[in-house]
Amino acid sequence: MTHYTGLINRYRNRLPVGANTRIISLNEGNTPLIQLQNIPRMIGKEVDIYVKFEGLNPTGSFKDRGMTMAVTKAVEAGSQAIICASTGNTSASAAAYAARAGIKAFVLIPEGKIALGKLAQTLMYDAKIIQISGNFDRGMTLVKEVADHAPVTIVNSINPFRIDGQKTAAFEIVDALGFAPDYHCLPVGNAGNITAYWKGYKEYATDRVCGNRPVMCGYQAAGAAPFVLGEMVDNPETVATAIRIGHPQSWDFAWAAQRESGGWFDKFADEDILAAQKMLSQYEGIFCEPASATSLAGAMRDIKSGKIPEGSKIVCTLTGNGIKDPEIAMMQCADAKPVTIDASLDAVKRAILDGL
Ligand SMILES: *Cc1c(COP(=O)(O)O)cnc(C)c1O
Repeated sequence: MTHYTGLINRYRNRLPVGANTRIISLNEGNTPLIQLQNIPRMIGKEVDIYVKFEGLNPTGSFKDRGMTMAVTKAVEAGSQAIICASTGNTSASAAAYAARAGIKAFVLIPEGKIALGKLAQTLMYDAKIIQISGNFDRGMTLVKEVADHAPVTIVNSINPFRIDGQKTAAFEIVDALGFAPDYHCLPVGNAGNITAYWKGYKEYATDRVCGNRPVMCGYQAAGAAPFVLGEMVDNPETVATAIRIGHPQSWDFAWAAQRESGGWFDKFADEDILAAQKMLSQYEGIFCEPASATSLAGAMRDIKSGKIPEGSKIVCTLTGNGIKDPEIAMMQCADAKPVTIDASLDAVKRAILDGL
């Protein structure tokens, strides 16, 4: 067994890199696929639910899968700088991989609408942060325009190398299970990830690595649900800032994934998303960020209604790590104030007996 050195090396023969390409990697990928034990019992249906915990990537989200490829190819092409619009995780990832490569990262973020941990990361990795008084969609438009006027490579998921890197998550799931799941549930924002998973599953099925492909289920926040409404949303709002997107760039690809897989889109109130986030933490010990929990909220609703039938094997992608968004977590647990007691054996003993 050799030391794991990242997803490009692992899936080299399925990615557009050459023998002499300098690989920019932080050993991303190879994230755990964890079977839920308590939540399926609580739902009361016979189903196998696995979560692909992408929050354990180097910068804490699945964006690292795409970024290792995008930055590797940018550097190969001689680029000295990358740029992205971001709801937070893309900027953190771009900043980290730029630091690793020794190039500059410029990130456009919506002022006041990115989670604290993501901002802290991006500052630490020393990206050039440009806050705009506008949302992600506006930032995306600006990035596309400025790239025509300045020597920067866009590393948003409109960069096809991002999709190539991210498709490896589907490979890992099939490699772990020995088959593709019946249903794959994931949050949808800009829709790059649903595009990437579908590409990966199709590629493995075409090459007969596995015999089946999943039904793709894309879930959105009710205030930012263009795929459910069937039209773009101009002022998206949700507590799940990572999917606060109204004009998804991979619109056509996501619809193709839905159509070809026989899947669907659905939307969830912020309260449902936060409840699923708390459930995963409380009953399974898995702390993901709010947007990520939309996948489980969706799976639970569709299992309960029978849309996803008993006997199914389901994978939910948990796109990012809960510790990125401490403010939401503290708000969720506002009633669970820690008790403060005397620093004495007696007082600690009493606190334990009270808490049992
Ligand atoms: C980027 C992101 C999403 C949305 O993924 P898309 O590819 O834009 O659909 C969901 N959750 C988290 C945590 C993210 O960082």
